[in-house]
Amino acid sequence: MKVLVVNCGSSSVKYSLFDMEKEQKIAWGLVECIGLEEAFYKRQTITVPQVKTSCKVANHFEAVQIIIKDLLDEKTGSIKDIKEIAVVGHRVVHGGYKFSKPVLVNEQVKKDLKECYSIAPLHTPHHYAGIEAVEKMLPGIPSVLVFDTAFHQTMPDYAYRYAIPSEYYEQDHVRRYGMHGTSHKYVTQKAAAMLNIPVDKVNLITCHLGNGSSITAIKNGKVIDTSMGFTPLAGLVMGTRCGDIDPAVIVHILAKYPKMTSDELNNLLNKQSGVAAVSGIAGGDMREVEDAMLAGNKKAELAFNMLCYSGKKYLCAYYGILNGIDGIVFTAGIGENSPLTREKMCEGLDNLGIKIDKALNEPRSSKERFISAADSKIKVMVIPTNEELMIARESVEVLNENK
Ligand code: AMP
Repeated sequence: MKVLVVNCGSSSVKYSLFDMEKEQKIAWGLVECIGLEEAFYKRQTITVPQVKTSCKVANHFEAVQIIIKDLLDEKTGSIKDIKEIAVVGHRVVHGGYKFSKPVLVNEQVKKDLKECYSIAPLHTPHHYAGIEAVEKMLPGIPSVLVFDTAFHQTMPDYAYRYAIPSEYYEQDHVRRYGMHGTSHKYVTQKAAAMLNIPVDKVNLITCHLGNGSSITAIKNGKVIDTSMGFTPLAGLVMGTRCGDIDPAVIVHILAKYPKMTSDELNNLLNKQSGVAAVSGIAGGDMREVEDAMLAGNKKAELAFNMLCYSGKKYLCAYYGILNGIDGIVFTAGIGENSPLTREKMCEGLDNLGIKIDKALNEPRSSKERFISAADSKIKVMVIPTNEELMIARESVEVLNENK
């Protein structure tokens, strides 16, 4: 059984084709710089190394068409007949108030998705275009939507509500939704297996630290709180996002600069803030920030310290609300690859039973592993995330449920 996973981002479309017998990725790639003068199509298969071509791609609909056409190519494609694909799984960033679990696409689902445009305007229209392109290119093949927000739907009301007048919740659906749910779910399942604890009994803190970062409290395998909120802007200090700030700062900025538009303000907080703003290193790429810090750059050191401190505060808060945990998981670009960040976030927590072993923490590896000291009460793990595989698994599950 083959499953195609399509991930329509703000200016790119990534795809992975899985053979679910072995849960093996057999072809993958992306179309990037969609809508710009020159776009690029990078593709690779399990046997053929990456091929990059330049092309002109106006929108996400065209990008998905290019990908599927290529997968079906007589000479170089990985699929002979569209019927080899059992289901297409679409990553959807925000399920809004309409979706709390993965769903099989039908006309009503498409209508509901359109109603969520305003909550994630940079992504949802592209997801919609991806669904329509798949319908055109793969007629009769079912599509499933897998939402980044779905895993967080188990939060209790006192964790997801904001203490603002109720009409903003009731009419405008303003509440904490949380993001990176597919990643948090994948590493939760992996961690439970590593700890030899049934998933529905495992208590964890999962730290997805990448360009965007979120930390989640998992009780008995379910989310009870998460650091991102109505949008991915909340929580930790991130690459270019400010994370938690006093909301009155925004009011103050608007009062002081009345000509600033909501788009400009959004841009300021999402694209011009965070590690990038504090370090002065464009994009806030953590590798560059760490290199600069180690070379003595004080602004880079401050940005690094702020990111780690904001993460540590969530770690300790969630440790408290969970009343003890079985493990801590680090995942995503920074979580998987930065021993310095992991060390700094866990520094001085030995009183809580959290101790990292330096020798286990330092080496590079693409494998899941324990990095806690032998006498650490809490197990600390690094688990490479695999959101695409999780989407493929969930798509098959939904397909089977609807048979
Ligand atoms: P992601 O959004 O999950 O792709 O993660 C991207 C972030 O991971 C960027 O800030 C990268 O600089 C960071 N990253 C990747 N590799 C490393 C590394 N070896 N050391 C530190 N940060 C890294």
